[in-house]
Amino acid sequence: MNASGKAARIGVFGGAFDPPHNAHVALAEAALAQLDLAELHVIPTGQAWHKSRTLTPKEDRLAMTRLAFAGLQGTVVVDSREVLRDGPTYTLDTLHELQREQPGAQLVLIMGADQATALPSWHGWQDILRTAIVSVAYRALSTGDTARFDPKMLPGLPAGARFEALELPLMDTSATEVRRRAALGVDISSLVPPSVARYIDQHHLYRSA
Ligand code: ATP
Repeated sequence: MNASGKAARIGVFGGAFDPPHNAHVALAEAALAQLDLAELHVIPTGQAWHKSRTLTPKEDRLAMTRLAFAGLQGTVVVDSREVLRDGPTYTLDTLHELQREQPGAQLVLIMGADQATALPSWHGWQDILRTAIVSVAYRALSTGDTARFDPKMLPGLPAGARFEALELPLMDTSATEVRRRAALGVDISSLVPPSVARYIDQHHLYRSA
């Protein structure tokens, strides 16, 4: 509970962060500004069961996530629980852990519209929607389209599921594009925070050879 007797709201923002980029940082800033969060947990995923690609080692993704989100105003916790967990990473397990740690808190799961549309493919997605409010930002796609989200698109939406819109200017940045440019040796400084660009360079990440 906070001083006004309302449940404290804990933001949960997960991702592969391979690497973290400017749209991730903007999304976190928008969440802190708009969602009345007591704290925001930024959680790099461990063994992401839904990503077909082999991810960059978790130590590098965690280090880059720490660098990317270091300068934000507000209580931001770069939370390593998923990279430390053995076996597959399930968001539902993370939400249950946070619930046990902060009983009475309201969890707010933050994601882009592409992920929200794919929610039915997530392990225990209906339980996720019973456990947390889902806050969704629109996402610009590489096709030039915009990924929008309407909860009515989800078949089997559980009763009581709650969604909140997150206003974020459309940004077409993606980790895929950062990796593509880095592999070609093309400048990535407009896509990632300077500290992340330095880390990628110093650790020779995403190079094709
Ligand atoms: P990749 O290109 O490798 O699939 P990504 O850029 O989507 O990666 P993730 O780490 O998978 O990055 O994304 C973490 C979260 O950030 C997801 O909820 C995703 O929807 C959201 N997100 C990433 N980029 C954007 C963007 N440009 N606009 C809005 N949301 C975004």
